[in-house]
Amino acid sequence: MPAATTLRIGEHTRLECRICWYVYDPAEGDEFEQIPPGTAFTDLPDHWRCPQCDAEQDKFLPLDGT
Ligand SMILES: [Zn+2]
Repeated sequence: MPAATTLRIGEHTRLECRICWYVYDPAEGDEFEQIPPGTAFTDLPDHWRCPQCDAEQDKFLPLDGT
C-alpha cells in the first residue's frame, strides 16, 4: 500500500473495494475472516483480502467522512 494512502487511514476509517464496492468498516470488522469489531484496516492481517471479490488490500480506497 502506498505510504500516502496509509497516512489517510485512521482507526475508524472505512475503505471501499475498487473492484466490487465492498466497504470494510472497522466498527464491524469482518465476520467471514473472524476479524473482531474495532479492527482498523491497517491492523488487518496481511493475508486479508476482499471477502466478496478476493481483491488485495491495495485495491481498497479510503472513504471520506466517518
Ligand atoms: Zn471487492
